[in-house]
Amino acid sequence: MYIFDLQLTNFRNYARSHVPLGEGLNLAIGENAQGKSNLLEAIYLLSTLRSSRASSDADLVRRDILESDFPVSRLTAEVHRSAGNLHLEVAIVGRSTDTQHRAGKRVRINGVAKRASEAVGQLAATLFTTLDIDIVAGPPLLRRRYLDMMISQVDRGYLRAMQRYAKVLQQRNSLLKQVRERQASSYDLNFWDQELAHAGGTIMHARAEALGRIALFGEEQMVNLSDGQEHLDVTYAPALGKAELLSVPIEDSEWTGRMLAVMQETRSREIGAGVTLVGPHRDDVTIEVNELPAATMASRAQQRTAALSLRLAEATYLRDALGDDPVVLLDDVLSELDARRRKGVLEYIDSFEQTIVTTADPDRVRDILPGASARFLVQAGAIMPFEGE
Ligand code: ATP
Ligand code: MG
Repeated sequence: MYIFDLQLTNFRNYARSHVPLGEGLNLAIGENAQGKSNLLEAIYLLSTLRSSRASSDADLVRRDILESDFPVSRLTAEVHRSAGNLHLEVAIVGRSTDTQHRAGKRVRINGVAKRASEAVGQLAATLFTTLDIDIVAGPPLLRRRYLDMMISQVDRGYLRAMQRYAKVLQQRNSLLKQVRERQASSYDLNFWDQELAHAGGTIMHARAEALGRIALFGEEQMVNLSDGQEHLDVTYAPALGKAELLSVPIEDSEWTGRMLAVMQETRSREIGAGVTLVGPHRDDVTIEVNELPAATMASRAQQRTAALSLRLAEATYLRDALGDDPVVLLDDVLSELDARRRKGVLEYIDSFEQTIVTTADPDRVRDILPGASARFLVQAGAIMPFEGE
């Protein structure tokens, strides 16, 4: 799929911009702090309904209008898909209280209001950033997020299970505290155990399946980017004890049963702790480079190549699952790659219908400039044709 028309209104530092994107390679060139990452963030938001970096939706609304009478930021995209074209619109509506700014999102697809969960993944996208190295080197939360953002784009049931899980987890945790304080009976936990294990089973089943594919695609990319020097091994590490059961594909009902059994074993510890200690909210993914744990033993360059391989694997996974190409977004990542990895990445993403690459240094993209279908200059929140060469 590809976006052929994009409009940003009062989004971040953009007042009003129209971006006539093309099929194939699009280059957005601009000095630091001009709006390149904001542009890709807008596309990522249209795809996932979540910001790639903001902690609050109010951050997304252009500051100058946040306290105006109409503090609304609007993104629209015309998307060509093999499943039919799409007119996608996200409005971020701000409101100010005395102490803070808040905002909420509204979504329309082909003019019809939708819930955010229905809109996720209608436009599929993979975003590469220089922070991706943290998928490999950072805390488990970032690996779970990597999985969640990828799987929710192709599996609506997954997204629903995630929402249900989060809600039940909160209720179960407060009940655990009440049981600890003897304000409730441990018998009351049974219902919530069932509910949690049910949603948890769906999540773990989907994660195990997705990681099975990612492991294959990721290894392929790693070998290719390193000229056969490096191997990548990713395995699911569910927070249910040993993962020996992963050697055979298992159904989510079996995951649910397994989770219930582990919850039984840990119940007294959980009551003592007053929180749920097992389940997908504590999952991790084990990542090894050349058979050594990547977070603690791989070199910085190996970690970066592993992260890059995981993103390329994500794009492949989406293409495979959707039967349509995701839009590939590269935020400033080409400049940190050596010549071989850069070439490997560019060759691979060239097989996708649309790629949008940002850079602060036009010299770094001189070789690919002639092949780009669209070239933009990003300057102070405005987008214009790039006239350089
Ligand atoms: P770099 O090359 O350093 O990565 P960039 O071009 O990617 O720069 P962006 O991250 O897109 O820059 O940010 C551009 C500017 O947008 C920043 O100076 C930031 O202060 C501004 N900005 C961010 N949010 C808002 C907002 N809500 N309202 C107005 N301006 C904002
Ligand atoms: Mg940037």
